[in-house]
Amino acid sequence: MSEHECVRAMLALAAAGALDPAESMRVERHANACQDCRRELDAWRTYAQGLRQLPQPSAPADLMERTRALILDQRAANERAVAAGRCGNDLMLGALAVFGWATGLTFWILARVFTGGVVSVPGANLVNGWTWFMLSTVVVWMTAATAAVMLGRGRQIRRVL
Ligand SMILES: [Zn+2]
Repeated sequence: MSEHECVRAMLALAAAGALDPAESMRVERHANACQDCRRELDAWRTYAQGLRQLPQPSAPADLMERTRALILDQRAANERAVAAGRCGNDLMLGALAVFGWATGLTFWILARVFTGGVVSVPGANLVNGWTWFMLSTVVVWMTAATAAVMLGRGRQIRRVL
């Protein structure tokens, strides 16, 4: 291997400052005499300098800690929100059931007053207390079930989000 080839193989390392002083001197001496090696050494030096000037990504020391705290905070907040939502939904369901019963009872009283106590439908007296009770029970439970399904679906969507 000639001196030229030998030095050429070390040019990149020389530009990066990775050679020991003796090798570095050898590369410099050859590059001063050899046009090709001089040009290549300069090119490598430009690259090395450019690389050194690139901004180094540096993460703040407490980034991990802060991120973990943020995630825990977020999770706790979500759990609080879900718990609060569940509580509110139960109250709302209760209110709906009470409202359903009250409406049914009021309507039954009014219907009895206005019809004089008898509404004849083939097969059943609609304003008869027992029939009315059965009908309104079915209606109230259907209303409550629908509300429960809707609230449950809303809760699921919120959990997914
Ligand atoms: Zn050379």
